[in-house]
Amino acid sequence: MTNDHAKSFDDLGIDDRVRRALDDVGYETPSPIQAATIPPLMAGRDVVGLAQTGTGKTAAFAVPILSRIDTSARKPAALVLAPTRELALQVAEAFGRYAVHIPELRVLPIYGGQSYGVQLSGLRRGAQVIVGTPGRVIDHLDKGTLDISELEFLVLDEADEMLTMGFAEDVERILSDTPDSKQVALFSATMPKAIGRLAQKYLHDPAEVTVKSSTSTAQNITQKFLQVSHQRKLDALTRVLEVEQFDGMIVFVRTKSATEELAEKLRARGHSAMAINGDMVQAQRERTINQLKDGSLDILVATDVAARGLDVDRISHVVNYDIPHDTESYVHRIGRTGRAGRSGTALLFVSPRERHLLRSIEKATRQSLTEIDLPSAEDVNAQRVARFADSITENLASDNLDLFRGLVENYAREHDVTMADIAAALALETRDGAFLMSPDPPPGERREREPRAERAPRGGGSFAAYRIAVGRKHKVTPGAIVGAIANEGGLSRGDFGNISIRDDYSIVELPADLDADTMALLKHTRIGRNSIDLRRDMGPPRTRGGGGHKGGPRDGNRRPNPKVAGRRGKY
Ligand code: AMP
Repeated sequence: MTNDHAKSFDDLGIDDRVRRALDDVGYETPSPIQAATIPPLMAGRDVVGLAQTGTGKTAAFAVPILSRIDTSARKPAALVLAPTRELALQVAEAFGRYAVHIPELRVLPIYGGQSYGVQLSGLRRGAQVIVGTPGRVIDHLDKGTLDISELEFLVLDEADEMLTMGFAEDVERILSDTPDSKQVALFSATMPKAIGRLAQKYLHDPAEVTVKSSTSTAQNITQKFLQVSHQRKLDALTRVLEVEQFDGMIVFVRTKSATEELAEKLRARGHSAMAINGDMVQAQRERTINQLKDGSLDILVATDVAARGLDVDRISHVVNYDIPHDTESYVHRIGRTGRAGRSGTALLFVSPRERHLLRSIEKATRQSLTEIDLPSAEDVNAQRVARFADSITENLASDNLDLFRGLVENYAREHDVTMADIAAALALETRDGAFLMSPDPPPGERREREPRAERAPRGGGSFAAYRIAVGRKHKVTPGAIVGAIANEGGLSRGDFGNISIRDDYSIVELPADLDADTMALLKHTRIGRNSIDLRRDMGPPRTRGGGGHKGGPRDGNRRPNPKVAGRRGKY
């Protein structure tokens, strides 16, 4: 990442109320995409940003919009278009967080699958920021319920994804319905030609923000990663702490509040852990670091800023609990270990959705990270048993045994119990009944490592085949099918199985348990001009030759087009 940008949110001229909200959420410094994007957006320029999820791009556009928006009017001034309902909700929530100190500001998410009623009353109440999926925004424009004729800001978030999902026409239509004077920010993880054309046609002399990485990492650091969902990170870290032999450790998280929270949770689990963050006064920070140096503290939970320049020889491990926004901070973070010629281990937690960040780290550092498995309950228990044995060995070497030996021998005589029973009873006194972890569920039920773990059909059920009344003849693409159905039906990508496009219809695998409301909504959903008329696929009607099949999947051509079927993994 280029690093000649603002190092502090104070240098960016953002509104004081927004600045306070950033403090509240615990952001210490702008991420590179924020440092590069906020200044031109504050200056009123259009921006094209090459940025992926996880880089902090939401705040990169939300902060300047909230700093500059006129909240006195009660009509839409900013519109953010996002490809999916989840992203729209996520972005709307982020806007809400950054606007906590702007009480008159209203943010409204509008997406398919939600009733029009809620959206209409939100629009009537005068939301100034609308975050929506293209299909539903078009519906509101058609109905005359959304007026974007006086829009000041338009954001295209994950623009490449919107095009892949078949929203190109909708996006262009929305762009051309807005006043020419509006400011546009376009964010995209990739820059295919179609995005370039879109930018050229609708943006005015945009500032192009490409945050580059150029870095290298030390050879004496072993780099590993563990794929784990956000919810299971704490469990993963506590398992790692039990099975890894470490001396000192730094655990990196993204926000100040997360340093305190995680340190607290680790202490509750019996680890010696403290937080350091940019809020701490220097003396306090130094005291904590000295404790880490002299071995009275083992785990430091830190933000990037707080750990900058930290040089403690005994740090044998760095854990990236939250994946860093950029390669440069990854390199800084892991450089806290492997000091003074020692070897070090760096472990990165990455959720399935963050795999692209892992790939950029590997590309930029030109080193690949080795994947490790979540330590199993068995591994953890083996360590606990070994530590138990070690503590016996250690205490047997103590000089203070004689007194207790006498007491125990008396007890054994008086109560007629064996020495083994007494030893077990004493062990129980210091360790509670949950000394061993219960076994993990069999593989298959615990699917941490599988990228599809977050993509099981909603509710974890099974897929069923559905038929829609658009096919090759209507020039339909898998992207357009996913776009329309996800948008209107409120489904996520993980809810899509195979998609097989036939001449005048297509078969789509969706969760078998779609409820009646969703079915009704999807019946009237359009792709282009055609209503898709979604229904459960019962196979083709029986023909005179008896060649049909009942309830079977699809038609005589049982094998779905492999190219299209291959989409299953993607969506
Ligand atoms: P995004 O790429 O917008 O989805 O953001 C990814 C994550 O980074 C979110 O959890 C944000 O809350 C967090 N984040 C965004 N900006 C910052 C920042 N400057 N410092 C720390 N965390 C941030």
